[in-house]
Amino acid sequence: MPHIVIAGGGISGLTCAVALSQQGFPVTVLEARDRNDTRGGAALAMAPNALWVLRRLGLADAVTAQGSRITHYTFQRESGAELKTVSFQPLERTWHESAWCVARAHILETLETALPLHSIHHAAPLDAVRWNGQSFNLSGPFGSVSADLLIGADGAHSTVRNQLWPAAPPQYQGFLAVRGVLAHRLPPSQQHTAVQTWGGHGEFGYSAMGDNHVYWFATFRWDNPHQLPDWTRVLAEMSPWGERARGFAECTPADARLIHPIFDRIVPFADLAIPSTLIGDAAHWMTPNTGQGACQGILDAWVLAQQVAGNSDVRTALTQYRERRLGQALRVGRLSRMLGRVIHDPRHWPQHMGAWVLARAPAAFIQRAMAEAVGSPRQLGLE
Ligand SMILES: Cc1cc2nc3c(=O)[nH]c(=O)nc-3n(C[C@H](O)[C@H](O)[C@H](O)COP(=O)(O)OP(=O)(O)OC[C@H]3O[C@@H](n4cnc5c(N)ncnc54)[C@H](O)[C@@H]3O)c2cc1C
Repeated sequence: MPHIVIAGGGISGLTCAVALSQQGFPVTVLEARDRNDTRGGAALAMAPNALWVLRRLGLADAVTAQGSRITHYTFQRESGAELKTVSFQPLERTWHESAWCVARAHILETLETALPLHSIHHAAPLDAVRWNGQSFNLSGPFGSVSADLLIGADGAHSTVRNQLWPAAPPQYQGFLAVRGVLAHRLPPSQQHTAVQTWGGHGEFGYSAMGDNHVYWFATFRWDNPHQLPDWTRVLAEMSPWGERARGFAECTPADARLIHPIFDRIVPFADLAIPSTLIGDAAHWMTPNTGQGACQGILDAWVLAQQVAGNSDVRTALTQYRERRLGQALRVGRLSRMLGRVIHDPRHWPQHMGAWVLARAPAAFIQRAMAEAVGSPRQLGLE
């Protein structure tokens, strides 16, 4: 059996490690983070496509145990007037799974717990990748390890991608995302509805995360991605979305606040003659506007593990994985970019027009657009 090394123990890398080890492959995960570093990421919307994979890994119930099921999405104006409420039911029917809002740290912990002991090395950043014609030699401060197959799951700034594929610089999308989690119980009517407010120079949204917490996010235009605002400035930027938005941001403890400039890289990577591939953000870094980045990484992980398990030739497995996943993930990435541009366009009219369409289009039309972006198990060749 080939010895597989996965660079990056984020959601994509850990999902892939679990899927491969359940198929009997020896897997080593090299993760730059320290074992106790669970920061980063606040919460994630896990759509039914991600839950479909987690169910097959036997982890869906453990992942959702601390989350909130989201049955509806409500879009509204700054004034609070509703633009549209959309049910997740059609997507749930297609995937036989629901959508959930879950703390990222909990997802990571659940995946890590499902791995065989000693398969993940923390504080082990991969620095250099060398192919000697037979195997990879991977080195960093941890020393060096060899691998027959190298999977790059090391995120947006992937070392594996940078060293094995030609440079593909990310593109700044002109806006920031701020996020937080705070202890707060939403009223029963909002326990299962994610709310998203368009207006001002971006959007603000929130949803329940478990019984007693709220996950919120806001995005707004910002010119310089290398100079981020302090929290006082963030609060000022959030004024257009009213008291609730400001209140959530004010009550979020300092260690639960995140600010990220939003880039994407939706440039395909080529098939290589050596046994290495990419999954998750390393393969297709997308803006958060469809809430699909991690979900697509989870699908990558599952499909890659199936291909590797089902092929005696690793190169064939990697080619087939790439053909099955990359096109769909890049399509979702392009849709995310388009939505981000509509919402943050400085001319405002694209957002006004988007809101006008949202208010008038039948819910079924929006549900169809969501279903087309996410696909179905049959379209994606999963069953
Ligand atoms: C504001 C915002 C909101 C989002 N909301 C959602 C959402 O609701 N739903 C959703 O599905 N997605 C969402 N996303 C996207 C999602 O966060 C990412 O797509 C997802 O985290 C990608 O997972 P990954 O494992 O591929 O990469 P990462 O999460 O970046 O993990 C990569 C891992 O590799 C490690 N690493 C990096 N370099 C090295 C190295 N050289 N050696 C070893 N390890 C290394 C890192 O420490 C990290 O643990 C959101 C993103 C943003 C910015």
